[in-house]
Amino acid sequence: MVIHGGVGSLEGDPQRRITVHETLTLFLMESYPILCDYDAWTAAVHCTRLLEDDPNFNAGTGSKLQKDGQVRMSASLMDGRKNSFSAVINIENVRNPIEIAEKLSHEKHKVIAGDEANEYARKKGVKYFDPITPQRRREYEEKSTGQSGTVGVVALDKAGNIVAATSTGGMGYELPGRVSDSATVAGNYATKKAGLSCTGIGEHIVDMGVAVRVVSQVENGMPLNETVKKILKEAAQFRYKLGLVALDYLGNIEIGKTIDELFYAKHDSKSVTTFYSCQAFD
Ligand code: ASP
Repeated sequence: MVIHGGVGSLEGDPQRRITVHETLTLFLMESYPILCDYDAWTAAVHCTRLLEDDPNFNAGTGSKLQKDGQVRMSASLMDGRKNSFSAVINIENVRNPIEIAEKLSHEKHKVIAGDEANEYARKKGVKYFDPITPQRRREYEEKSTGQSGTVGVVALDKAGNIVAATSTGGMGYELPGRVSDSATVAGNYATKKAGLSCTGIGEHIVDMGVAVRVVSQVENGMPLNETVKKILKEAAQFRYKLGLVALDYLGNIEIGKTIDELFYAKHDSKSVTTFYSCQAFD
């Protein structure tokens, strides 16, 4: 199982690096038993919910504000075995956008956006929730986009199923209604062979169709590490800014980025490794 809390640079803030490392480790350690006892879907949704509830990340509580002062969140889920993608785009005033993506996975029409997404959530009994934190309000007033912090989870269960989940509050101070990569197949994709969650500048990720392209190449027989290397090389040529976490059906995990730092944590069934340190657990 591999998770991320976005890309960014925390060089000037060593304490925040430690906090993010500890938080990612904690959430991964809490979600891993769910992966073992249940399945990749349950674990991915659970872990994404934990990340959304943590105001340090830019998803759910602590999402960034768009230029008009409103928070609009996007989240997606893909079940590799069912080959089924569901997503919510620019939803407002819910606590966990990933839960809406999950509800949509049972519908005929699996991707909805904007006002209709808000209405869908209310009809499903999802309570009104204000995700704006004082910190994000301050960043908005300073017209700062702040640190990144999109979240993502990719998990492989013992039945061999791969699930990818991604959730974001966007870039911050963007054009109201902008659609990022996170709730598209460019930012989040999985099949029986591989799964991927991206973070970084959504326009760059969409331009390259990162997630769906990497997974297709694995489907065509290319090893995951080579496909990731290839897409990152191409992204670097365009000076595109992105990061990704990926895994394949054999349990190989790949982490990739073209900028600064990617805040990730991975559990390879023996040990947990994060962007900050490597620590083994029994
Ligand atoms: N990809 C997200 C977006 O473009 C932001 C991020 O991952 O930091 O909205």
